[in-house]
Amino acid sequence: MSESLLITGAAQLLTLRGEVPRRGSSLSKLGLIKEGALLVREGKILAVGPRTQVEKHAAARRAEKLDVGGRVVLPGFVDSHTHLIHAASRAEEYELKIQGASYEEIARKGGGILNSAKKLRAATADALKRRARAALQEFASYGTTTVEAKSGYGLDVASELKILALHRELNAEQPLEIVSTFLGAHTVPAEFRGAPGGAQRYIKLLAEQLLPEVINGRLAEFCDVFCDRGAFTRKESEQILIEGKLHGLAPRVHAEQLSHTGATQLAVELGAASCDHLERVNAADIRALAKSRTVATLLPGCDFHLGLKQYAPARKLIEAGAIVALATDYNPGTSPTMSMPMILSLACTQLRMAPAEAVAAATINAACALRREKRIGSLEAGKQADLAVFEVEDYREIPYYFGMNRCWMTMKRGEIIYMQD
Ligand SMILES: [Zn+2]
Repeated sequence: MSESLLITGAAQLLTLRGEVPRRGSSLSKLGLIKEGALLVREGKILAVGPRTQVEKHAAARRAEKLDVGGRVVLPGFVDSHTHLIHAASRAEEYELKIQGASYEEIARKGGGILNSAKKLRAATADALKRRARAALQEFASYGTTTVEAKSGYGLDVASELKILALHRELNAEQPLEIVSTFLGAHTVPAEFRGAPGGAQRYIKLLAEQLLPEVINGRLAEFCDVFCDRGAFTRKESEQILIEGKLHGLAPRVHAEQLSHTGATQLAVELGAASCDHLERVNAADIRALAKSRTVATLLPGCDFHLGLKQYAPARKLIEAGAIVALATDYNPGTSPTMSMPMILSLACTQLRMAPAEAVAAATINAACALRREKRIGSLEAGKQADLAVFEVEDYREIPYYFGMNRCWMTMKRGEIIYMQD
């Protein structure tokens, strides 16, 4: 068996080398190489550059060869916001939404997250794992190589731990990398609602019973909160995130999606890894993000699926200098998609991001959101050989085609994990 792999035939090789994180005008810099080549060994990139240069490398002569036939090669997508583990779709609510019910009305009637929590609690770990495994294969088929996954449909000690344990098992059993986030504070569970002080009693349970288990079992890296109307207030979110931080979990926040709560300022104050959604940020929030290292992760799939007209102000965020990333927010209630290319299409048409900006936001900046930018998110010597090959001649065709899959091959740590039939 040959120990190295030489990949040639890339009409365009998007390396994404350069400034990290990407802010402002640097977001559109792709480090594009025409007729590029990559040399891979033991799951890592040994050399990258124009074919003539890479072929001179000593290891290139002995390497196994893979010609991608004039297609476009880029880093595998880093999907930095998903709710991977859930038991079922919520297609029945989709129909209600089309008829005019709002997301919050449905949630108040026991739908929404509580509906998913009911289904998850009743599901076996095996059934949940089968569903998540199938989803991960589909993520890979769209060029994604790393997936952040949040708990949050359990909302009790046993069910939250069941989800987090599945993150760990799936990470070990299949090729995609799973980054685990504890989102016990997704919403206040049904059994804590009704009586006054319910949110506080649930927060106490999170802090005293759940977080110690999460830490002892090393079940998560991040702690997230859904800080919004109908979920947790800014003050409650702060309590939870500080508790998580004390236990060694870096914060991330669902912020300013349905209402403006001040969650963005909180995220910046706490040095959160990312602050996600941001449909309703104001000028002060944008300035705060621009001065911080907190990544502004935009999730246009949500607004698209809910049929909302107000998308996050991507142009303002980019121009102010915030670190903008894109993710699917794969979840059964508001964004049932695993397709990062579809998210890029929405970023271009709805957020007015240039195709190059959308690519950088879904790779190198998304890697920053998961604090993995030294290992993934760009194709550079020494980094992990995580890449996607698209059946296009020009990278702009990746968002240009929508609702169809142009991914031809996906590679994780140097191994082919998806190949188009
Ligand atoms: Zn989410």
